[in-house]
Order: sequence, then C-alpha cells, then structure tokens
Amino acid sequence: MGAIIFWTIIRIVILIPSLWLLFDWMEYRYWWMIGIMSIYGIVLHPAYIQYRMFLDENKEVLNNTLCATCEHFDETAVICLKYDKHPTVDYLPCDGVEWEPKNNSRNNEEY
Ligand code: SF4
Repeated sequence: MGAIIFWTIIRIVILIPSLWLLFDWMEYRYWWMIGIMSIYGIVLHPAYIQYRMFLDENKEVLNNTLCATCEHFDETAVICLKYDKHPTVDYLPCDGVEWEPKNNSRNNEEY
C-alpha cells in the first residue's frame, strides 16, 4: 500500500510542474481540459489499477488465513500490527499463538 501512495505522490510531483509549464504554451480552456485528463490518466487511474492489483495479490491472505480474523491484523496494509510483519498463506508471524478475535474487546465494552 505504501508503494501505491509513494508512486502517486511522485506522479503528482512530476505532473504539477509539467502542467505549470504547459500553461504558457496553450489556451486556458484547453489547458484545463488537458489538466483534468492528465490528472485522471497519470495520477488517479494508475493508482486505482495498482490498488486493484494489490487486492488481487493479497486476496488469499485477506480471505483464507487465521490473521484475517485477528484483532491485530490491518487489512489495508496486509500486516500484523503486533509483530510488524506481513503474513502470507504459508506464514503466520506468531504461529497462531497471539491470535485474538476481531472486535471482541469492543463488543464486551458495549454491554
Ligand atoms: S497476532 Fe498472529 S494471528 Fe494475529 S495478525 Fe499477528 S500473526 Fe496473525
């Protein structure tokens, strides 16, 4: 997930000065159109594609591992927050010893 954010920022950093330079070379009404299209085509769409690929690559871990049901698992980064490691289908950082059910403590506090 960090790589997606990193490359999105890099593309923005390159695109903004490019649009700035382009501003002097073309009419204002076309510049806006090209600006909006380039923001979508160079920044937003590639980030969306990378995010879809990230979800696809981690589908097994997110759906079929013990970590997916654990309180210490962060789905957005596919990481165990307790061990600061990425679990895989074949590798659980804690070997299942530290597993805790999701939202268990929050549900008990409500009642
Ligand atoms: S504590 Fe264990 S079961 Fe829970 S997310 Fe981390 S490695 Fe997975």
